[in-house]
Parts: sequence; C-alpha cells; structure tokens
Amino acid sequence: MIKLFNPGDCLILVVDDVKMNLQVMANILDKEGYEVTLVSSGYQALERVYSAKPDLILLDLMMPDIDGLEVCEKIKSDPTINDIPIIFISASQEQSHLLQAFEKGAVDYVTKPFNTAELLARVKMHLELKYSRQKLAKLLEEQVALVQELERLANTDSLTGIWNRRHLFIIGTQEFNRSQRYNLSFSVLLIDIDHFKKINDTYGHNIGDEVIIFMTKIVNNNLRQPDCFGRFGGEEFVILLPETDADEGFIVAERIRNSIQNQYLEVADQKVSITISIGISSYCLGDKNIDAIIQRADQALYQAKNQGRNQVITQLAS
Ligand code: GH3
Ligand code: MG
Ligand code: MG
Repeated sequence: MIKLFNPGDCLILVVDDVKMNLQVMANILDKEGYEVTLVSSGYQALERVYSAKPDLILLDLMMPDIDGLEVCEKIKSDPTINDIPIIFISASQEQSHLLQAFEKGAVDYVTKPFNTAELLARVKMHLELKYSRQKLAKLLEEQVALVQELERLANTDSLTGIWNRRHLFIIGTQEFNRSQRYNLSFSVLLIDIDHFKKINDTYGHNIGDEVIIFMTKIVNNNLRQPDCFGRFGGEEFVILLPETDADEGFIVAERIRNSIQNQYLEVADQKVSITISIGISSYCLGDKNIDAIIQRADQALYQAKNQGRNQVITQLAS
C-alpha cells in the first residue's frame, strides 16, 4: 500500500482535563513519531484547533466547563476545520455517550483505560482515511481541470484562441433551433480577409499569422457577450449573432469592416493593413438547418468579393 503520511508530519491535538492522562498519551504518540500538542480544557481546545490546525484530535468526553461533545459540535459546524477527524477518549462506557459522540461527528470512540496498540491503530487508520480523502479530492480536481482543458482544446483554434469550426457548428445549430422554436431573428456573418495571399507573399507566413491574430482581436472588441466568433478555416471567419436581424447584422458588419480598415499592425517598422469582405444572411422560415444560412452568407461574400472587396453584402432568402 502507498504510504500516505509520515507520523512526523502529523500534529495530533490531545484534550484532557487530567494532566496525567495528557502525559501518558503524549508519551505514546511521541514514541510513535507523531507531533503532539496538549490542552486541558474545552476552551483551550477550540483555541488550539484554530492556531495549530492539527491533523487529528483525541478528545476527552467529560470535562468541566464545555465538555467534549460540545467541542466536537463546534468544530464540526465550522467548514474551515470540520475535516479534522475527532476520536473520543472517554471513561464512560455508556451507550448513549457513544451514540452522541458519533452524532456530533466523531469518527471513533475509545474507552479508558485504552489499549495502547489499539489506540495507535485507530489513530493511524483515521489519518490514512483523511489523507486518502484529500488525495482523492486533489485527483478529482486535476481530472476536472484536465477535462476542461481538453474541451477548450477541442473547441478553439490554436492560433487565435477563438472558437473553431466544430464549435461554430455546435453553437450555430443550437441557435438555429432556438430561432426556429421561438421565432427569433438570427444572423450569420461570413468574413474573409481580402487578398490575404498577398500579405503572406509580401511579409511571410509568420507575419500572416500575426495579421490573423490582429484581425481577430479587433473583431472581438466589436462584439457583444452573446455573439459567437470563430475561425471557419484559413482566413475565413464566422460570427453568429443571436436575436439579430439582417439590418442589425449589417450595422455590426459595417462597424467591424470599418474598424479593421482603419487600423494597422506594426511589424519591423512597417505598417501592415488589411481589409475584409463580409457576407450576411439571416434565419428564414423554411431554412432546414444552419448550413442553409451559411450557404447564403457564402453567396453574399462571393458577391462582395466580385464587386471589389472591402464591403458588406446581405443575401436574403429567395
Ligand atoms: P480574396 O480576397 O479573394 O479572399 O483573396 P485571398 O488571397 O485572401 O484568398 P485565397 O483564398 O487565394 O488565399 C488565402 C490565403 O490565406 C492562402 C493561404 O495560404 C492563406 N492562409 C490560410 N490560413 C492561413 C494561416 O493560418 N496563416 C497564414 N499566414 N496564412 C494562411
Ligand atoms: Mg481571402
Ligand atoms: Mg478565402
């Protein structure tokens, strides 16, 4: 079995109003290699739990002022310390005491006089349980983070960090279905960088990549939270605009087109600027799926290119 802890790294708080008992338990635990901290009242126990953050507590049940059951109840009601296992050490053989101890959240109950080997075995078992719980929680947390990272990788474009084609289709289909069900407007913008091949040919592929990143940042700055912007492939991009009709979509597209033509990327003392063409289409009754809207946006984009580029064209359903 994997060793889950070193006794030397474990601090055990022992609570007992009889000094002699404290001494006996301190000796036993110390011999086993545990770190020990001792208190002789319930009040001190509560203070020490916060200041020393022990890994386990051996708690006397019957004490003057506040007794062990009350101490246990207080510790278990505070989420910052309630994961510390509490073992009751009690002179009481009464069944009701034992039941109350477990009700208050104790993990174990040992009666005095105790058998040393048995007490040590119980301490060890509860520390092992505590550490394996912590280890499992950590593993689970790592797994969740891993799954989230995999999901991110599966849905985003590695160059720009925006959504990829796969994710665009997932969201596009969801939005299409929503528009159909609730009769909402929904627009799709298809964007293509003009003469991008020339950028690559003039400045090289790396600068071409920089230009793509530069362009996506500008687009992102012009979108609202519900809009979904992704890379469709190469230098072609899609923006899904939920609850937006063709006219509103045109305003968004014009804003983006303008924003891009008015900015430049500075690379090695050179100012690189680009323009984009945008095709727009909106959801129409009779559209079977998201592809139908994208197809019309593609026709609009083709027209924008043919008419001289750096412009926005809307294609309504025929
Ligand atoms: P048009 O105005 O008609 O769209 O002309 P264009 O040159 O932009 O279109 P074309 O489809 O002829 O060329 C697109 C170029 O985009 C070719 C391809 O190498 C380049 N490209 C596609 N993806 C990337 C990329 O990730 N990085 C870089 N640097 N270039 C890319
Ligand atoms: Mg292009
Ligand atoms: Mg293209």
